[in-house]
Amino acid sequence: MWQVDVDKDKCSGDEECVNACPAQVFEMVDGKADPVNVDECLGCETCVEVCPEGAITVTEV
Ligand code: SF4
Repeated sequence: MWQVDVDKDKCSGDEECVNACPAQVFEMVDGKADPVNVDECLGCETCVEVCPEGAITVTEV
């Protein structure tokens, strides 16, 4: 299982992770990325790589 955290203070709402995630983990909520489908996460860390703000962390749990 994977835990996905978005630092809402860093998130600029550019939707890079929404578009890049192969598992559709993220949805936009109030202009910020929210990992609403975290159960689908593959742990690929693509979101971490594409986020220009460094707002996302992925941790195996
Ligand atoms: S680690 Fe991969 S599957 Fe998981 S949220 Fe990020 S992009 Fe999506």
